Amino acid sequence: MGSAMPYPGDTVAVVRLRRGVVGETRRVCHVVPLPGPGEIPDSLTALCGADLRPGEAELLHGITGMPCEPCLAKVAPSVGQLSAAG
Ligand SMILES: [Zn+2]
Repeated sequence: MGSAMPYPGDTVAVVRLRRGVVGETRRVCHVVPLPGPGEIPDSLTALCGADLRPGEAELLHGITGMPCEPCLAKVAPSVGQLSAAG
């Protein structure tokens, strides 16, 4: 426990650090829970704990290229539970 699991209905976004911010090998797709309407935080924290600042990351419309494995691992279990239920 203690992880930042998204709740069903939470809005999440897929973001990736921009070219030049980090090396190509670290440009993975992070899953980020979005704040509520009207809340504009100084930075967003991905499910894996990565700190993403405005201007450093680009918003993607889906997972493109290499996904962040820790982020995926936090999202995947809830999908697995659904298929395992019953
Ligand atoms: Zn991540």
